[in-house]
Amino acid sequence: MKVLVVGGAGYIGSHMVKMLGQQACSVTTLDDLSSGHRDAVLCGEFVQGDMADRALLDSILSKGFDAVMHFASFIQVGESVQQPAKYYQNNVVNTLTLLDAMRAHGVNQFIFSSTAATFGEPQYTPIDERHPQQPINPYGRTKWMVEQVLADFEKAYGLRSVALRYFNAAGADPEGQLGERHDPETHLVPLVLQAASGRRPHISVFGRDYDTPDGTCIRDYIHIQDLCSAHWLALQSLVGGAASQAYNLGNGQGFSVQEVIDTAERVTGRKITVIDSPRRAGDPARLVADASQARQKLGWQPRYADLATIVEHAWRWETRFDKSS
Ligand code: UDP
Repeated sequence: MKVLVVGGAGYIGSHMVKMLGQQACSVTTLDDLSSGHRDAVLCGEFVQGDMADRALLDSILSKGFDAVMHFASFIQVGESVQQPAKYYQNNVVNTLTLLDAMRAHGVNQFIFSSTAATFGEPQYTPIDERHPQQPINPYGRTKWMVEQVLADFEKAYGLRSVALRYFNAAGADPEGQLGERHDPETHLVPLVLQAASGRRPHISVFGRDYDTPDGTCIRDYIHIQDLCSAHWLALQSLVGGAASQAYNLGNGQGFSVQEVIDTAERVTGRKITVIDSPRRAGDPARLVADASQARQKLGWQPRYADLATIVEHAWRWETRFDKSS
């Protein structure tokens, strides 16, 4: 199978490229390296460029592909509030350019990275696919818009897609070759582990006054490898002729920020300095997925559902240069 991975040099994309290579796919990565890393693309062909560049897309897609996976989005909620134009341009307009180029070259199978942020403030948990989608920030709205575009494109053009709504992706390649390298890093698990390793002085806990048992926010952390295996199954379902679908992806179990810190202290054997900080704008108290659709329809089975395992793999990545750990 020939797959184009747009954004394949980023955190999730790079793990996906590796998995596709292991599944004997012929992979091409297109990435502008604005946030990705060339050395994270472990197999296949690499093209440095922008998905807004239609001529470049034409030259790549004219070689013939079975499917496109799209990971090239901006993902910071706070930044999306400050700079919405940047988010609508890249996450919506540039995605339309990609979809148009796919249509022009007869590539009609698409895997899209969506997000729990399309749901907005939860009306109930765990969140299943029928939960109303009322995103509360530009980031969530860009992803929700593309989901609607995809539904229309299937009806009008027969372009079939799977939108995978990630809850909290975390962890690292179990074989230790890849991990999370955002700059700036904003995600809880790597930040907590940087506080454990000494790369940061402390971790700030954003709010202790939420309506949760310990007052800190609850999230559903999903191992990067399990996320990628869901993409692989989604791709196989499309190739098998399945209609377009959206799936929520999480373990169905929530952990509080404090529980993540406690787990990290146990896994690393280090004391982590915690500073209590104000709430971060736009953070719902509790986001937990009901992923039973993905289990039933895709046959998805998470292998690394245990939070300690997720943290352990991320810790191995964090300390990869530290021979004393
Ligand atoms: N969080 C925190 N301190 C940090 C970063 C994150 O307390 O330095 C909290 C954040 O408020 C949220 C949870 O950790 O409740 C997960 O945040 P993250 O940014 O990793 O993912 P998100 O849930 O925003 O997708």
